[in-house]
Amino acid sequence: MHAASLPRKAVVYELVVRPIVETNFWPGQGGEPRSAVHMRIESMEDKDMSIAECEICSKLTDFEYSFDKHGWEEQPRRMPVEAAQLEPAEDIALRGKENDHVKRCPICGTFYRYVYTSEYLVNGSEDSEELTRLTPAEARGFLSDEAYDRVMAAMTGRPNDPSAQARHYAGRSLVSHDVERGEYHQVPAYLTYPDADVARGAIWTSWQA
Ligand SMILES: [Zn+2]
Repeated sequence: MHAASLPRKAVVYELVVRPIVETNFWPGQGGEPRSAVHMRIESMEDKDMSIAECEICSKLTDFEYSFDKHGWEEQPRRMPVEAAQLEPAEDIALRGKENDHVKRCPICGTFYRYVYTSEYLVNGSEDSEELTRLTPAEARGFLSDEAYDRVMAAMTGRPNDPSAQARHYAGRSLVSHDVERGEYHQVPAYLTYPDADVARGAIWTSWQA
């Protein structure tokens, strides 16, 4: 019974929590005010590096989670060790930020949203962490105009990348860029893209939008 709760939790997060969180997160759209962004990254690492070339990001899928139910014999589920190498991109000393903030890869500069939750239950507490890779448009408030333009320029070539992981992220990122700007005319082309990984990435983003 307990084993079944792991995938369900991830599914619920994908279907219910994340769309709500992301809708309320983007700076200037009713979520976190732009002024609260702790730092804008001007000289960000290697923005031309794809996630597949990065020794941290290549080991992380677009959505990772850990789950630990204390007092149960079942082994806790852990995130890949590379997740611990990501660095906070916000001041985690601020109220509420320690358990819910954006992280950044110190090698390639890719952003992630990290959420930690702990529930105290009668039969033992449950701790869980969720880590979602953000597209450049989703992390727009953390990037200068120049940095954003550069990373998106590199992204336009990624649908042809030899790595399926990089192509999937390109599909997500390119559609995310258009959706954030309200420019939908190119979206159908990505949804029906000849490469299935690009199309799946595009569908992921479109479903959230
Ligand atoms: Zn990276």
